[in-house]
Amino acid sequence: MSTHKLHGRRRAAAPAAVAAPVPQARPRDAVRAERRGRGPVRQAAGLAGVTGAGQKAGMALAATGLVLAVAIPTTGAAVAEEPAKPAKAPLALVSTPLSAKVEFSRTGFSTTADPDGRLKQIMSTASGSVTPASAKGSLAAPLAHMTETSPFGQRISPITGELGEFHRGEDFAAGCGTDVHAAASGKVTFAGWHPYGGGNRVVIDHGNGLETTYNHLSSFSVHVGQEVSRGELIALSGTTGASTGCHLHFEVMVNGDVVDPAGWL
Ligand SMILES: [Zn+2]
Repeated sequence: MSTHKLHGRRRAAAPAAVAAPVPQARPRDAVRAERRGRGPVRQAAGLAGVTGAGQKAGMALAATGLVLAVAIPTTGAAVAEEPAKPAKAPLALVSTPLSAKVEFSRTGFSTTADPDGRLKQIMSTASGSVTPASAKGSLAAPLAHMTETSPFGQRISPITGELGEFHRGEDFAAGCGTDVHAAASGKVTFAGWHPYGGGNRVVIDHGNGLETTYNHLSSFSVHVGQEVSRGELIALSGTTGASTGCHLHFEVMVNGDVVDPAGWL
């Protein structure tokens, strides 16, 4: 799970958690919680430094619940695991000022892990289109809920009904208009109409020979040359191009060859 998502989803949680850490928590939990809690505070301070907005930035974050979000783990794992409604407002706050967005991502990932750094390492040892075992989990899920509807590889064509079609990606259930997120940081190299069935398609180059593509989109909100962060909202799913219904066709390419996305998610 990405910290980004964590922050985004916790927003609406109980304000009580911010007031004080739960005193009866086991010492180790308390320490861990405090450590987590420190992330956003540092982040708020960082934002203030970058934007020059001073305390106002911190107050704005607190007001929108960004700070609340991180305090939630102090109330226990049950609460932390509880799925929350995706909230648009905080996402907007984070992504509106460019400097703020960058700072947010960097802080969030450095406190837990460095997934894009790990990706770089994996790609430096990858040869050809072979997927290294270490690649599993190195890409973030492009959808909040991932349900595979058609695997990568040989299959019966859903369009022609014929055997032997090679499915270049993995299909996931997604009603039209579902948020689609970048699987990793990178640069958008294509955002437009794919003449060979992909419909509205976005391609992101993650560097070191790794690319991901997002297809049949109803719309996209990125342009060629744009740098995107891991987990960033880039498009809405759809059923454009050669598609029989709303879903996301997701591809992973290594040195120009498609590989099974399941080995990377
Ligand atoms: Zn597909």
